[in-house]
Amino acid sequence: MKESKRFHKVFNFSAILSIAILAAHVGAAQKRYDYARPLMGSVFNLSFYAPSDSLAQVASDSVFARINYLNGILSDYLDGSEVNRLSASAGQGQWVYVSDVLYNVLAQSQYFSAKTSGAFDCTMGPVVQLWRRATRRGYFPEKQQIKWARKAVGYRLVKIDHQQKRVQLKQKNMRLDFGAIGKGYAADQALEVLRHYHILSAFLDAGGDLAIGNAPPQQTGWRVEVSNDKQANTAPQTLILKNCGVATSGHTYRYLEHHGQRYSHIADPRTGVGLRTHVRTTVIASNGTAADALATAFSVLGVKKGQKMWQKMPQIGVWLIETNGQKNQHWKSPNFDLLFSGNIQ
Ligand code: AMP
Ligand code: MG
Repeated sequence: MKESKRFHKVFNFSAILSIAILAAHVGAAQKRYDYARPLMGSVFNLSFYAPSDSLAQVASDSVFARINYLNGILSDYLDGSEVNRLSASAGQGQWVYVSDVLYNVLAQSQYFSAKTSGAFDCTMGPVVQLWRRATRRGYFPEKQQIKWARKAVGYRLVKIDHQQKRVQLKQKNMRLDFGAIGKGYAADQALEVLRHYHILSAFLDAGGDLAIGNAPPQQTGWRVEVSNDKQANTAPQTLILKNCGVATSGHTYRYLEHHGQRYSHIADPRTGVGLRTHVRTTVIASNGTAADALATAFSVLGVKKGQKMWQKMPQIGVWLIETNGQKNQHWKSPNFDLLFSGNIQ
C-alpha cells in the first residue's frame, strides 16, 4: 500500500510555496506562533518560531495535514485504517505489503518490545479491546475472556519482511494497537515536516507526548511543566528542554473500577490485566516515539523492575509514581534532574 497521491500533491504544492515564502523572508526576525487542534483523540498544541505569518500558516497546515494522514493509517478506532486492515489478515498465512509509515511504526514497536522484555507490546489489541468494552459497560472481564484475548497477543507473532516491507500476523484474532507509540511518532513527524520549512525552534504536545526541537531564540530551551500528583504528594516540576522527546503515561480518567480497585487502560502483556498500582510515568528520551513507547513500558514494569531496566538504557530519564493502597512509591532515575538543561542526544 502506498501513501495516497492526493497527499503528495498537497505536500509538494506546500513545499514549493514554502520555498518561495522562505526566499522572501531570509534574515527576518522570528515570531512565536501557537496552534491547538483536536487530533487523534487529544488536543495537539503546536508552537514554533517563524519569520512570517504566511510561512507559519503554510507550515502549520502541512503539520496538521500530515497528522491527519498518519491517523488514517495508525488509528485502531477507524474501521478502514491501514492498521485495522492489516489486523483483519491475522492468522490467514498471508504476507501483507504495508506503507512506509506502518512499516516504520511497526519496526520501531518491535524494537521497543525487544528492548523492554515485552513490557511494551503493540499486539495488545485484543486485551485492550476487552478492557475498553468492560470499562464502557461497567463489568469486570472474566478469566476465560482474558485468557482468550491473551492467546492472540505477543510481539513475536508479528513477522516483518524488512526487504519487501511486508508483514504477517501469525495468530488468528491478533489486533495491533499503536495507542502507546502513535502520538509520540506523530509529534516527531510534526517536527520533521517543520524542518522542510526550515523551522527548527518547535514544540509539539500531542496530549502528553511531546517532541521538542531547537530552543526558542535567545533561550536555553522550552519550558515543560510536569504537574504535581496529589495522590503521591509530589511537587510540580518545570523542565527546560530542547532536542528530545518527553512522554507522560497514566495520569488519566480512563480506568475501570471494580471492588474499590482501579484498573488502568495500560495492561501488563504477561497477565492481560490493567495495571493496579500505577499512577504516572514521565520519560525523557531522544525523541517523541522513544519517550512514548518507553513511558508505557516503564508503567508496566513499575518501580522495582523499572530501576533494573533503566540500567540498560541510562541515557533516558524516568520518573515513576506508583501507589498501593495508602502507600506511595516514587522513583526518579539519577540523571532525571540533570536532563533539564535539555540536550540529550
Ligand atoms: P500510553 O498513554 O502511551 O501509555 O498508551 C496507552 C494505550 O496503549 C492504551 O490505551 C492501549 O491502547 C495501549 N496499551 C495498553 N497497554 C499496552 C502495553 N503494555 N503495550 C503497548 N500498548 C499498550
Ligand atoms: Mg506511550
